[in-house]
Amino acid sequence: MKNQEIFVTKPSLPPLSEFLPYLQKIWDTRLLTNQGPFHEQLEKELCIYLGVKAISLFANGTVALVAALQALRLTGEVITTPFSFVATAHSISLSGLKPVFVDIEPNTLNLDPSQVEAAITDKTTAIMPVHCYGHPCDVEAIQLIADKYGLKVIYDAAHAFDVECHCGSVLTHGDLSVLSFHATKVFNTFEGGAIVCEDLEIKKQIDQIKNFGIVNELEIPAVGFNGKMSELNAALGLLQLKHLKNWVEQRKTIDQCYRAKLAGVPGIRVIKIAEQKANYAYFPILVSADYPITRDALYKKFKDAGIHVRRYFYPLISNLPPYQKIQSAKKLELPNANSASEQVLCLPIYPDLQINEVERIVALIRSQ
Ligand SMILES: *Cc1c(COP(=O)(O)O)cnc(C)c1O
Repeated sequence: MKNQEIFVTKPSLPPLSEFLPYLQKIWDTRLLTNQGPFHEQLEKELCIYLGVKAISLFANGTVALVAALQALRLTGEVITTPFSFVATAHSISLSGLKPVFVDIEPNTLNLDPSQVEAAITDKTTAIMPVHCYGHPCDVEAIQLIADKYGLKVIYDAAHAFDVECHCGSVLTHGDLSVLSFHATKVFNTFEGGAIVCEDLEIKKQIDQIKNFGIVNELEIPAVGFNGKMSELNAALGLLQLKHLKNWVEQRKTIDQCYRAKLAGVPGIRVIKIAEQKANYAYFPILVSADYPITRDALYKKFKDAGIHVRRYFYPLISNLPPYQKIQSAKKLELPNANSASEQVLCLPIYPDLQINEVERIVALIRSQ
């Protein structure tokens, strides 16, 4: 039998029959959007599931990032990591702010707090770190710097659904955390996103921003846009939540299998998981100079074998045309991020991935 093609991720879905009652309710009530019953229920259930105080749902993670920046009334410069999905820097630019790139810490691949202070100017108003691959940033070190300089902290937590560090949900750190529920993420509503906040007053403002700035029929005191999540997406979220614990367990089995089988392969480094509760969203490896072939040669071998691994995050954001001319984007200033971007490969990981497929992937890596 010919080997099946394998992709880096495959969205998990419950049986269609389980979704039909939700659809029936939407058809019966004709409540399609604008804080309908499924929307309100999903916000409540997510707060409980994630152990956070308040959540505001969005149409996707990118508009949620833009709304978060707007809610905190930021101006000037925002310090961020170049080693992320492009939406991180785009959300800053789209908000009329300037991203300032700071290098990553080579073990965790997260923003290096020890390099943040040197990038702060009198225009800096916030830091936007990313919990890359769902591995928590050094939230305490970042908060110390933010407090010292009076900066806001918005976490791009698109990878960090239901991740806990030593003091509970990683999503309770900073001023706001932003989730993505895109099809490729651990928890998905096809498209979707959310802002997590610990302050109900800010949630109220965020809810207005995502609904054109409308407070009530007569009052529209500020500019807003349409960032709302529809009832269809909210219903999908409610259904997915019922299966998520199982799915994350299946991811964990795959993660452990990779770790065991890749141990000791010369030139291949896996990222250590230090957190109390992980979500196994990604399985990145770093292909170093000690490995017999280059990262891109290995990528090509995978492709030829029908295994579609991904180079997240390559190209590096700071090397892309909209950003490469910024002073802080210089390659020499970002050696760790540039090196990670040139070495990283994300291996397939999703609940349906079979152990014999994991073995096939590992065998290809070991046979070079
Ligand atoms: C997926 C992702 C986003 C964007 O989320 P969307 O829901 O696709 O708009 C932002 N930042 C990071 C790090 C992501 O991985």
